[in-house]
Amino acid sequence: MICHKCGGKLEEVIADLPFRVGHNSIIIIKELPILQCQNCDEYLIEDPVMEKVDRKLSKIDETAELEVFSYAS
Ligand SMILES: [Zn+2]
Repeated sequence: MICHKCGGKLEEVIADLPFRVGHNSIIIIKELPILQCQNCDEYLIEDPVMEKVDRKLSKIDETAELEVFSYAS
């Protein structure tokens, strides 16, 4: 896979990423498998991973300001 921004090589890495849910809620998902560009700060989340993230986020209590959970759990 190639970075659409700079043409650099995307490499699979495990990262902790924040997601915004609702107005003031931030959900941090740990141990998320993403494709990170080796050349710039661009990254890509593959569709099956994003679907699982969406399912997790839909169950989150939006009144919580900050939640942290693991992708694998
Ligand atoms: Zn790049």
